[in-house]
Parts: sequence; C-alpha cells; structure tokens
Amino acid sequence: AAKKLESEAVLACMENVQRKVLVLSGKGGVGKSTVTCQLAYELASRGLQVGVLDVDICGPSAPTMFGVKDRQIHHSRSGWSPVYVSEGLSVVSTAFMLEGGDEAVIWRGPRKNGLIKQFLTQVDWGSLDYLLVDTPPGTSDEHISTVQYLRADGNGVDGAIVVTTPEEVSMADVRKELSFCKKVKCDVIGVVENMSQFKSGVDKLGFKNKDGEDVSEKVKDILEKEFGAGLTITANVFPPSGSGVVGMCEKFNVPYMTKLPLDPNLLECCENGEGFTEKYGEGGESEEAVKAIKAI
Ligand code: ADP
Repeated sequence: AAKKLESEAVLACMENVQRKVLVLSGKGGVGKSTVTCQLAYELASRGLQVGVLDVDICGPSAPTMFGVKDRQIHHSRSGWSPVYVSEGLSVVSTAFMLEGGDEAVIWRGPRKNGLIKQFLTQVDWGSLDYLLVDTPPGTSDEHISTVQYLRADGNGVDGAIVVTTPEEVSMADVRKELSFCKKVKCDVIGVVENMSQFKSGVDKLGFKNKDGEDVSEKVKDILEKEFGAGLTITANVFPPSGSGVVGMCEKFNVPYMTKLPLDPNLLECCENGEGFTEKYGEGGESEEAVKAIKAI
C-alpha cells in the first residue's frame, strides 16, 4: 500500500512533465552542473519550459549557476514551489533548504533518500517540457533512489546525459556509470566530453618573459597588429587516454554527443548566474563552446 501511495504521489507530481533527464558523471568537478545549468538556459531560450532539480546534496551548485543564491523555495498547499530564474526556468536545490550557504552537508543515506523523495513527490513544477536532474558524482544511494522514485510513476526517466573529462581517472569512473545505467535500464542519451581543450580569446591571456616580467600588453599589441582583433588560442589540456572518450562510447555502444572546450567565458557565466549561449551566441570568440552546448 505504501508503494502504491508513493507511485501515486510521483505520478501526481510528474503528471505534466514531458521528459525527465538525469545528468551523471563518474567524478566530481568534471562539469556536470555546468552542463545541466547551461543546457537548461539554452532550452529555456528556445521557449521551452524547463525545471532543474539539483539533488547533488553534498555539493549543490545550481543556486550560484542560476544566480538565485539568496532565494528560498516556499511551501504552499500544492507543495513546494520552485525558485523561478525566469518565466520558463525553475530550480529546486537542496541548497535552498540550508540556512547558511557554506554549510557542508553530511547526511546519511536514509535522510538523503527522504529528501529526494520529497523533491520528487512534493514539488509543484507545473507544466514542463524538460526536467533536468543534476545528480551527485558516482553511483550512490541518491542515484538508485532517484531512478526508483522516478520509475514509480510507471514512465521512468527518459535517459541520462553523462559528462566526463578525457583522462583515464575520470573515464574509469564513467565506465562504472555506464554499467550502472545498463543495470537500472536507463537509456544513455549521450556522453559529453568536457575540457579536453582550452579555448580562449588572446585578450584574456597573460604573458611573461623568461625573467618573469609581465609582457601581456605588448604581446597582445603585436598579435593584434599582425592578425587583427578577436584572435583565439587552442591548447590540449588532457593528453587523450587510449582511444579517448570516442573509443569508450563505441565500446559501450552509447552516442558520443559533443566536445565542450574549457572556455573562460563559460566559467564566468557560471559564476555570475548567466546563460552562456545567449550571451555569446554563434560566431563570437566562444563559438565552439556555444556550438557544443547547443549540440547537447
Ligand atoms: P561538477 O558538477 O561535475 O562537480 P562543475 O560543473 O561544478 O562540476 O564544474 C567545476 C568547475 O569547472 C566550475 O567552476 C565550472 O564553472 C568549471 N567548468 C566546468 N566545465 C567548464 C568548461 N567547459 N569551461 C570552463 N569552465 C568549466
């Protein structure tokens, strides 16, 4: 009977949610939240209704990335109302339930599961085209409970986007993640390769001569005279491991989605709670990263 009640609660909560997508990563710090948030901004800019559920209980970053750090979710008769970033973009994060922003959360499994259950059964999302769920790194209790609760409505999750950097330590964990998806029968929509390259406008770089003197302005002047404004640089950050992310995708028979470069403009947008693709658009100095996010 309890199970039935639970299913009904999830069903009621997700009734008007068209698609539910998990965003996963094997390791922390590889850009999972960045991808979740910037994808949400991009989808919302296309006029879609998007909700983001940040269940990364130990390191919730959605409030910063959406620029809604000081806001709270409110409880009403119809459930918890999410924080609205804009009309078509709403967010629920564990961070909204903590008193101080920097408070570390060390919660035990059952408490975490209880909170996830509340999030999945009591948030009044309204009508959504997409619900993006930002999960903690790895395959912990939270993942299993999220997938289980979402499945309780009989429709389950539509799939997972997996984010990884290309070095072996990150990919080793991603392989476990891909096996987890297989085990719980969650479709992998695709893998995003993040930060394998560094892309930047030359104007944002610093240059030093061998004596340690800052010669940035001079170098930029020379380069600009020779090549004009808007010069960009590209550098490989991580040496590719084996056949790389592409090879791993082939092996696991999952789609390789795109390569998102390490781009200082993207980092800045995340820090300032801004939508990157709208701010930089196609054709500018961040073209490659913009294209990558639009390709997800
Ligand atoms: P995760 O959610 O996997 O822990 P985050 O998305 O929080 O990782 O990313 C960690 C840090 O790296 C953040 O400061 C984020 O803004 C930055 N970052 C992630 N991907 C990129 C990228 N492609 N370009 C620039 N900065 C990035």
